Formats: sequence, C-alpha cells, structure tokens
Amino acid sequence: MKKESNLKKLLGYAGNYKYLTIASWVLSAFSAFVALLPFVYIWKVIKEVLEVAPNYAEAQNLAYNGWMAVLSAVAAILIYVMALLCSHLAAFRVQANIRMKAMHHIVTLPVGFMDSVGSGKIRKIVYESSAATETYLAHQLPDKANALATPVGLLILLMVFDWRLGLLSLLPIAAAFIIMSVMTGKRMAEKMKEYNDALAQMSNEAVEYVRGISVVKTFGQSVFSFKRFKESIDNYEKWVIAYTKDLRLPMMVYTTLVNGVFAVLIAAALVMTSDGVTNEFLLNLMYYIIITPIITLTLTKIMYASENKLIVADAMSRIDSILERKPLPETKNPRHPENNSVELDRVSFCYKEGDKNALDQVSIKIHAGEHVAFVGPSGGGKTTLASVVARFWDVNSGSVKIGGVDVRDIPKEELMNMVSFVFQDSKLLKTSILENVRIARPDASREEVLEALRDAQCGDILDKLPEGVDTVVGAKGIYLSGGEQQRIAIARVMLKNTPILILDEATAFADPDNEAKVQAAFRMLAKGKTVLMIAHRLSTVTGMDRIVVIKDGKIADSGTHEQLKEKDGLYAEMWKQYNKAAKWKVGVVND
Ligand code: ADP
Ligand code: MG
Repeated sequence: MKKESNLKKLLGYAGNYKYLTIASWVLSAFSAFVALLPFVYIWKVIKEVLEVAPNYAEAQNLAYNGWMAVLSAVAAILIYVMALLCSHLAAFRVQANIRMKAMHHIVTLPVGFMDSVGSGKIRKIVYESSAATETYLAHQLPDKANALATPVGLLILLMVFDWRLGLLSLLPIAAAFIIMSVMTGKRMAEKMKEYNDALAQMSNEAVEYVRGISVVKTFGQSVFSFKRFKESIDNYEKWVIAYTKDLRLPMMVYTTLVNGVFAVLIAAALVMTSDGVTNEFLLNLMYYIIITPIITLTLTKIMYASENKLIVADAMSRIDSILERKPLPETKNPRHPENNSVELDRVSFCYKEGDKNALDQVSIKIHAGEHVAFVGPSGGGKTTLASVVARFWDVNSGSVKIGGVDVRDIPKEELMNMVSFVFQDSKLLKTSILENVRIARPDASREEVLEALRDAQCGDILDKLPEGVDTVVGAKGIYLSGGEQQRIAIARVMLKNTPILILDEATAFADPDNEAKVQAAFRMLAKGKTVLMIAHRLSTVTGMDRIVVIKDGKIADSGTHEQLKEKDGLYAEMWKQYNKAAKWKVGVVND
C-alpha cells in the first residue's frame, strides 16, 4: 500500500514523463521475451542436426537459425537499452522536479527552520533523497519488469516442446522452494526485521560516535570507550554469524536442487526411454538440458531483483518532511511600523509540540534607540527571544511588535530592512570579501562597501590578504578566523544599516586583539540604533541601557548593571562568578 503510494507520488513528479516510465517497463518486459528467442532457434538447430544425422552436409538452415539466435540476442539487448533510455529520461526529470519543488518550498520557510535543521542536512536531504529515487525509477523498476517477464516466457518455453520434461524441470525448483520455506518458515520475516534493527542500531551508534569523535580524540580514548557503539557492532556480528549458521543446511539443499535440474531430467529420461528412444525425444531432452541453467539464472535474478522499496520510502518521507513544513503566512493587511521600538507581549513559543516552552509569557518593551543586553544561563531562551523578533519563527501565543505593529503584519521586505542579525557563527560565502559584504545591499557601491569594512575594523584583514577586498575567501588556502569572520559579518550589517540590530556575541575569542576589534566594531554599529544584544561576557554589558536576565524562558530580572549588581539575584551571582573567573584570567562564560 505504502509502496504504491510512493510510486504514485514519484510518477506525480514525472508529469508527462510518466509515460516514458511506463514505456520503460513495457520495453524491458518485452526484451525479456526476446531474450528467450535464441533458445527457440537453438532448438531448431538441434532438430535439424538430428534429422539429417549422420549426413550433416544436408542441413540447410543451420546458418540461418544460428544467425537468428544471435540477432534476437542482440535485439533483446537493444530493446533493453531503449527501456533504460526511457526510464532514465523520466528518472532525471523526476529528480530535477523533486529538487526544484523542495528548493522553492524551502525559500518560503521560516529562517529558524534552516537554522535548527542545519543547511548541510537540508542539502543532504534534497540531494541524496532525490538521487535515491533516480536509481529506483531508472534501474530497479525496469529490472523488476524484466525479472517478472522472464519466468512467464520461460514457463511457455518449457511447456511448448515437451510438457512432461517441462514439468520435470520445474519439480526440483518447486522442491527447493518448499524446503527453503519449511526450514526457514515464518522465522524469515522475523529474522529480516531483527537484521534491519541490528543494522539500524549500528548506524545510529556510528553517527553518535562520529559526532563525539573529537571529544574522544582529545582525551586520547579509542573506539572502545564508545561502549554502546562497540556493543552494537558485537551484537550485529553475533546475530549475523548465528543467522548464517542457521541458513547453512537449507541453503545447501536449495542450491543443490536448483543447480541439479539436469540430473533429474537425465534420470527421468532413462526411465522414459526404457523401451526405445525417438529422435524427437532426444532433441527435446538435449534442449531442456541446455535450458536448465536459464531457470537457475532467472531464479537468482528474481531473488536479487532488489527493489529497495525501503530506500525509496525513506527518501520520500525525508522529502515530505521538508514539503510538509508550513511557510510563514503572508499578511493580508500589511501595516507599517511607526518607529523602531520592539515589544513582546505575553509571548510564548516552543520548538516542538510537547517540548517545554522556550519562551513563556515573556513581556518586554524596548523603546527606539535603547540598548538592551540579554544575559542568563545557557538554554534560558535568549537566542529564541531574538529569533522571534526577527520573525525567524512565529510565536505560539502573544505577539511581537515592531514600531507598534505585529511582525506578522509587516511585509517581509520591510521587516528585513528594519531588523538585522549578527550571528555567533557568521557564514562567509566562497566569493570575494567585497561580494560577501555587498550581499547585504546589492546596489551598494565599492566605496560604500569599503567604508563599511573600515567601520567594522576590518582594515587589518584587508591588509594581510593578497588581493585585499577582492580576495576570494575559502579559496587557495585563504581562511579567516572566527573573530575576523564576525567582523566581516558586522560590515555586512553596517552596510545594510537597519535601525534595529540583534547581536549574538561570540562566546570566546582566541586573542585579545581580535576581541577588542570586534567590540569596537559592535560599538560603531550600535550607534543610534535599537539594539538587542545577547551577551556571554559580562564585561560587555556594563555600559548597556538595560540588562535583562533570562532564565527558563522567563524574564528573571531587569535593570541597569548598577541596580542589578546590588540586588540579591541571579545577576549579582553571575557578576561575582565573573569577577572571580576574571581574576583567574579565564574571563569566559561559556554558552
Ligand atoms: P540560550 O540562547 O539562552 O542559550 P536558546 O534560546 O538557544 O537559549 O534555547 C532555549 C530552549 O530552547 C532550550 O531548552 C533549547 O534546548 C531549546 N531550543 C533552542 N533551539 C532549538 C531548536 N532549534 N529546536 C528545538 N529546541 C531548541
Ligand atoms: Mg544562545
């Protein structure tokens, strides 16, 4: 049921190319029949030889029949190639259409979705899953049509010449299957499930292992410290060995029977010919002995005609996991913010149904031009709060207002021109510094970009690069440190010059010089703007207009540095810790 709907879905992506897919099945099945024709001609050859024996010179049609056998073999191949041509044309179209649809859809999704799933993973889903459907449509389905048509043709071929011998050649095959299913029986399905489970568990643990590999290496441990990973491998090994031993006997019987058809034929022939042999019987016997390997081959082909339904089902469900995401709704009555204030009114938000609220009834007013710092324990909800202001997500209840207007009513373009975000890990594209900054405002002139870079304290970066602002980052060993990348990102925002800024301060800097420059760039950027800054080091918040302490999705406290320091609260505690740490010269609060 599931598979059919997947196939239907796939064909839905094919559009008119659907008919090519169907043509590929028909052609492939047809090719299976044609591939059996040589055996008919071989039968004719044997027949003629037996008829004229021992005066072989009298044979008239040997060459003709021989050539026909060759020609039909070639024709079968050509038809199969045509089938593949059709199936590939359709498969590539399906693949392209899936990618296109997914990409178009992704653009409409909340920015938060990209952030939380990760762009690498999304790319993997879109590319690998669509590629998985390609193999299925281009190869596996036509091959399946072929594998199903062959036994039908073979059955006809076996019955036409001498049905008794035909039945006899099927006897061992039937016996093989009966023995196989009696000996493995219902356990087979169970075993397959166990096998898949063991495999899945192993690959899950492997993922976990790879994720933790840096930790393991740092502490000089080996794979054995990942006990669960090792256990899953051991389990798998134990399972496979036991299963293999289980299958030894049935497999042996099966293989012997399937390959021993000719022996049965010969034994039967001895009995059937006890009162003399006719030419025709001899002919048919020889013919059946020749054809038996084809039976074995066909069976093997069917057994291994893996369809990988699972892979396709998995691929389709991954693609659907993206397509099912709802885009941010577009407003029907757009309104324009009156000023640059930000207000959260009883905002609650949770990432997944059932999760606890990442923001819980948060209300706060930030007036235009105010600089507010958000501090608090990791996981408290600071990043989430900033994300809903930029409408990376829509809140579950309450409202976020900019300039008195709900962000859901502000046209997307306008919102983007009001709020910009400097992330903790700013990404640079593999292009020149100039273009990396210009992305923020494509109509900016070179001079404007250079000015933004200067204001963002990037002078020293440009100086050390071989081609200055035209140097391509990521190419030919040109890499920038985290702090340098963040300064370039600040230049971007500088160029965009939006009245509201959200800054996620970097957690740690490798060198004090970089840190001082980033701070200076931040200060320059923040001038005259409404600023929401997520701060990780208290040294940077002391001068802010207001400090808001966020804990467990709620506002725990707020006030100026002086006010909060005197209160007996979380901030005072954090400040004490910070000073103690600073004394030890490890002034970093990790997040
Ligand atoms: P902070 O920035 O203060 O460290 P966050 O806003 O990042 O806190 O996280 C608040 C809560 O939301 C945490 O419990 C965190 O686990 C959860 N969370 C954050 N981002 C996501 C996400 N993309 N998907 C699911 N849960 C998330
Ligand atoms: Mg955070």
